[in-house]
Formats: sequence, C-alpha cells, structure tokens
Amino acid sequence: MYNTKAYAAASATSPLASTTIARREPTDRDVQIEILFCGICHSDVHSVRNEWSSIAPTVYPIVPGHEMVGRVTKVGSAVTSYKPGDIAAVGCMVDSDGTCPQCKAGFEQFCPSLTLTYNSPDKHKTAPVTYGGYSNSIVVDESFVLRVPANLDLAGVAPLLCAGITTYSPLRHWGVTKSKKVGVVGLGGLGHMGVKFARAFGAHVVVFTTSPDKKEDALRLGADEVVISRNADEMQKHAGSFDFILDTVSAKHDINAYLNLLRLDGNITLVGAPENPLEVSAFSLIMGRRSLSGSMIGGIAETQEMLDFCGEHNITADVEVIPIQKVNEAYERLLKSDVKYRFCIDMASLKSE
Ligand code: NAP
Ligand code: ZN
Repeated sequence: MYNTKAYAAASATSPLASTTIARREPTDRDVQIEILFCGICHSDVHSVRNEWSSIAPTVYPIVPGHEMVGRVTKVGSAVTSYKPGDIAAVGCMVDSDGTCPQCKAGFEQFCPSLTLTYNSPDKHKTAPVTYGGYSNSIVVDESFVLRVPANLDLAGVAPLLCAGITTYSPLRHWGVTKSKKVGVVGLGGLGHMGVKFARAFGAHVVVFTTSPDKKEDALRLGADEVVISRNADEMQKHAGSFDFILDTVSAKHDINAYLNLLRLDGNITLVGAPENPLEVSAFSLIMGRRSLSGSMIGGIAETQEMLDFCGEHNITADVEVIPIQKVNEAYERLLKSDVKYRFCIDMASLKSE
C-alpha cells in the first residue's frame, strides 16, 4: 500500500477537506494513474450528502469523483494495453464479476457485483469502501481503464467519463438520428453533453431549461430551439411532438409536463436521479402509448466507443477548471444550477496541500 492525498467528507453535513488515503500497490492486472483532472458530477453531491441513503447509503469518509483523466505511472506484469506515460481515463466503475449475463453482453454497469469507483465495498480490502478521483493517484484493473483520443483537451475529456457516456448511451439506445425530434431537460453537466451528442447524431434538438440566462449557450451548444420550462404556453406549443426526451434534472420536478410532449410511442428516459420519487399520472403514459424508462452510465466498450466518437467529432465538455480548494463552493453553485457546464478539478492543486 502507499499513501496519496485526497479530499474527503467525514459526514453528510461536513465540507470536503484534505486528507491522506491508502491505495493498493498495483497487482498484475492493475494500472496506476496519476490523476490530472477530475470532473464534479451532481452524483458526487448526492452521495456526499447521503441523499441516496435508501438505495446506496454513504459510508464515511467518502472520497467522491468518477470522471478522471490522468497519466499512467505504473502497470502490473499482465497489463497489455497501457504503459507508463500513457494518458488514460477512468469513469464510474472499477470492477465487475465479468461472468454474469450483463457483463458478457457488455453492460458491466448492471452487474450484480459491480464495484463503483467510490462508496462500493473494496474487494482488495485496502479500505472499507472504494475511494474516487478527488485524489492524486488511483489504481484500477486494466479492463476498466479507457483510452483517450490524442486530439482532445484533457480537462474537457474528464467529464465524458460520466456526463458523456450517461447521455451518449440512451441517445444511441433509443435510436436518436436525423429526422428525430429530441428534448433535453436541464442544461447542466449531463444536459449540455446530451445536447452536443443529439446534435452530432443529426436530431432536431430542443432544450428545456429553468434558467432563461442559459438560452444563448443552449443554442451555441447545438440546440435548435430553447423552451423555458416554467412557461406553460411555451411548453404547450410542443405538445405531442417529441420522439424522445432525455431528462437530466437532479431535483424533484413534474415529469408529466414532459410526458405530455411525447408523440405516439415516444419515450422519456430519466438519467437524473433526484433524492425523492417523481409522481407519474397513468394518463400521461396511456394516452399515446408513451413510455418512461431509465438509464445508468454505459458499459466499458460503449464508453470507449463514445470517447472515440468524441475524438472524431472534436467533442469535449465545456468546463470551468477549479482548484480543489474551491470544491465546496462548486457544490453550492451546482445546487443553484450555476454551472457552465461542468466543474473540473485541476488535481495539481491538491499536491500543494
Ligand atoms: P447538474 O450539472 O447540477 O445539472 C442539473 C440541471 O438540472 C441543472 O443545471 C438545472 O438545469 C436542472 N435543475 C436543477 N434543479 C432543478 C429543479 N428543481 N427543477 C428543474 N430543473 C432543475 O447535474 P448533473 O451532474 O448533470 O447530474 C444531473 C442528475 O443526473 C443528477 O441527479 C445526477 O446524480 C444524475 N446522474 C445520473 C447518472 C446515471 O447514470 N443515470 C449519471 C450521472 C449523473 P437548468 O438550469 O437548465 O434548468
Ligand atoms: Zn457522474
């Protein structure tokens, strides 16, 4: 084991603060990575504050962070795809059983013994739970490490590992292509990536936002139209017209207002994971044979496909790079929907602590 610096929260009400954590020495199959950038996902905030306690209670201390890009510093003897000096990325998962039907189908994210990057039982017993990317170094099984296209800006790549794949995967799954009318609800970290991908896939893209000041950005990011969702008249103009809507909202909101915008057989996929349940009216679904579904990140092969797609199309996240000392402030700003459009921590700032 060796020690590395990290930021952790000691309880649901504590701010994140500097600490030291242990990491395992790389085994034969492991890659050790010096983390250069780590995005801040709203899931980090939900987890730190134990807002998902009924599904995934937080074990403290928690070191969040699952959008990492960095430089390989050491590899185990059986590692074939990476060598020291390579740029590599790690997302929301660090291990799975590899044998269940989901793993065999490339859907590791649905493996019953999935190990998430943080707050999952640590199979290696280095600590009670896994520790995430708000840290200078991490050790990850080679099969959960991703290659990064050489042409992309690294700070903008980090958020692709969660915000990118979480929006890319359902847009692909639900066949978003040219001629499809697609809505993206919420213009935050996930939402702005959803807009970029839906645009790149050729769809007609409509952004739904509660923040009128984001309208120009939404158009710049690739939206064809922007609807201020608190304006009922503007919403009504789109009734019954969408093939697909991706809902990225992090807090309680009225899903029925969006279901009513779907055309026959239209679908809304939830990727946002609010703390409290959403109410669904049966009529919102039975009228027009509409469906409501969910989606969680994406498998490793699809994550690599997404990164390669981003390389080909020059797609990265729009980031506000911050030093780790500003992380608590960034959390408060996220809660006010004040992010344009992903905070990304420059991990060099942790070295000086
Ligand atoms: P974010 O950057 O904070 O964006 C969320 C956006 O939702 C905000 O920018 C805001 O957009 C809108 N919003 C916030 N509060 C709202 C409210 N009360 N009513 C209506 N709209 C509201 O968060 P994120 O990192 O994109 O994550 C979004 C959600 O996805 C979180 O719940 C997160 O945990 C979840 N998530 C799920 C997965 C998955 O695999 N399914 C992966 C990552 C994250 P406007 O200002 O445009 O209205
Ligand atoms: Zn995330």
